[in-house]
Amino acid sequence: MGLIVARNREELAKASGGGRLALVPTMGALHEGHRSLMRDACARANRVAVSIFVNPLQFAPNEDFSRYPRTFDDDLQVCEEEGVSVVFAPAAEDMYRHDRQVSVNSGEMGRIVEGAFRPGHFDGVLTVVLKLFHLVQPDLAVFGQKDAQQLAMIRRMVADLDLPIEIVGSPTVREPDGLALSSRNRYLSEDDRRVALTLSRALRVGAGEFTPAKIRETARAVLDEAGGALDVDYLVLADPATFLEVSETYEGPAVLAVAARVGGTRLIDNVILTLSPA
Ligand code: AMP
Repeated sequence: MGLIVARNREELAKASGGGRLALVPTMGALHEGHRSLMRDACARANRVAVSIFVNPLQFAPNEDFSRYPRTFDDDLQVCEEEGVSVVFAPAAEDMYRHDRQVSVNSGEMGRIVEGAFRPGHFDGVLTVVLKLFHLVQPDLAVFGQKDAQQLAMIRRMVADLDLPIEIVGSPTVREPDGLALSSRNRYLSEDDRRVALTLSRALRVGAGEFTPAKIRETARAVLDEAGGALDVDYLVLADPATFLEVSETYEGPAVLAVAARVGGTRLIDNVILTLSPA
């Protein structure tokens, strides 16, 4: 069976089929990280749907919505190569009624860490993901660990709103030198890219320490080495389920997460580590 491309909800409804269905939501400009999510989805389901939608709701007015990379023909090729059954690529006017009123409120958790720097972002993410869940009706959905707070928020929405969908987190794919793949990496100049490497290096070096204070301090010191070329929004060591900062006596899984701007490009990255008693 070839790839079906649905450009609106009517075409999507016609593309339904049997068996276990996995959804991989994306904003397009697909790279190896997205491919890895698709492979994860293929291994867990009979059919995989990929959505390609640059969601205006999750961009603030000062963000890069209009210049976000759009590479639709290449994206279709990637989906075809990965054995995807359906690509759902609606127009914004098809997704959102012009007089829409109701949206998902991401709560307090949507306003901390990444949410503190991107007001309204997680409300926009959860609203589009809930709509995609209703339209595609998948049995499971695969999201990247790269967007760790997004993954945590989606798990929370599924739990809080009793959605009958399994959520799978898939590991971050990196360049050989450590840089996490991102559709926004294409904006980086050669110099920017060198500076951008500081993010993954800070996380790696920080994760080699054993106490929350040492982990934060060590990672921060690496970020500081980049000087003014790196504009750090946050560095946190948090509980991966709540994104609240962990205390010095915390034991269990933790996420060391960073967001920073290099040139005009905002990058995020994180690693998961386990804190054990001293
Ligand atoms: P995006 O198109 O950037 O909105 O991302 C779509 C999905 O791909 C999200 O679930 C992301 O977390 C995931 N993703 C983005 N970059 C990576 C990466 N480097 N490794 C794994 N997953 C990723």
